[in-house]
Amino acid sequence: MKTLIRNGLVIPMTGKNDIRKADILIENNKISQIKDSVEGKFDKIIDADGSFILPSFVNAHTHLAMELMRNFKDDRENLQDWLSEIWPIEAKLNDRDIYWASKLGIAELIRNGCTTFADMYYHAWETAKACRESGIRGILGVAIIGDGKVAEKNFKEDATRIKDAADGYENIRIDAAPHAIYTCSDDAYVIAAEWAAENGALLNTHLSETQKEVDDCIRTKGEHPVSYLNRLGIFDRVKTYLAHGVFFDDAELEILRKKDVSIVHNPSSNAKLASGIAPIAKYRTNGMNIALGTDGASSNNNLNMINEMRLASMLSSVSTGKPSALSCYDVIRMATADGAKALGLDTRIGTLEEGKEADLLVMNMKKVNTCPVNDPYSAIVFSSDARNIEYVFSSGEMLLEKGTLTTLDEDEIMKNVTMQWNDILRR
Ligand SMILES: [Zn+2]
Repeated sequence: MKTLIRNGLVIPMTGKNDIRKADILIENNKISQIKDSVEGKFDKIIDADGSFILPSFVNAHTHLAMELMRNFKDDRENLQDWLSEIWPIEAKLNDRDIYWASKLGIAELIRNGCTTFADMYYHAWETAKACRESGIRGILGVAIIGDGKVAEKNFKEDATRIKDAADGYENIRIDAAPHAIYTCSDDAYVIAAEWAAENGALLNTHLSETQKEVDDCIRTKGEHPVSYLNRLGIFDRVKTYLAHGVFFDDAELEILRKKDVSIVHNPSSNAKLASGIAPIAKYRTNGMNIALGTDGASSNNNLNMINEMRLASMLSSVSTGKPSALSCYDVIRMATADGAKALGLDTRIGTLEEGKEADLLVMNMKKVNTCPVNDPYSAIVFSSDARNIEYVFSSGEMLLEKGTLTTLDEDEIMKNVTMQWNDILRR
């Protein structure tokens, strides 16, 4: 299969000045050529005149099936109060709930230009099935809340079920995902890191989301969260990415930088739950790799990476007093190349380069909200939205064509999600 995307403005995210008008040829799952003009015979030609072509977004932290709890009791005082509303619902969830909610989440991600997501949730085998059926790239965590026994059981049973559900679909990786230091024991973390190292996986966990979490860690363990995980040897055992990281001090940053740990910034969730504003511009200046995530739809309340970029930029400006502290180019890097790096996928995706996998989107800027385009990076972060995104490719497969999803039936998904949610409320 050969698809030519012609006449677009290619924004490869390999360097700020690398933008150019060019053709892109997709052959099977790869970008085979990026040239001023590509000649030949093609199965499909997309005229991208007036459009931007950029790497599709990487949502490096979410809980996909929390789509179910969108707008549900989200006016609570703080993270702990809100979790006390969410956990009883989660205890009732079944496979069918997760399957349909995952499909809804994937439909929303694709519509918003995202083709890779890192997930941490229950019944992840159903999310694997939804990934396989939709063509998206899923990094699915084996979720752990509990002690070493729970971790061992989940790696034995859940990881096997996820692998079976993936059924050979190549765009699923299974990571280890202990939830947080306030819900998992020392040995749960160590077992998770050992399992990940043995299985070519990464470790995904929440860390330093709230001041309370940091204070409790210092009180109960006598040290800051990063020092604690470092003492357990987690960062030496396995490549790790941490969601939130709102409250890291300089000593923690030094450890994370040395151990090549990435931070996933979740600005909407942190703002909505009043957790705080992570000093991302400072982290980047200190040499940290920063990715971007939406967190779950119940603390956001959508899965829209353009919203995250916009908010990340604005929060950085307002908290530093410097609009230039985090440039629009920087923030798009976080949502593409740096997100891919955090997930260990940077040799495959995250930039537009010949030989990389064709994970990309075509954004039509000939719309009222993006006219005129002066600075392309600013246009993407501050003016664009899902209306501009017309084509989305994942591993060379077209998942959105002229604004229509090709692998998913949205009406069927919404009908089933509504049915499942009504059923959950009756259980
Ligand atoms: Zn989260």
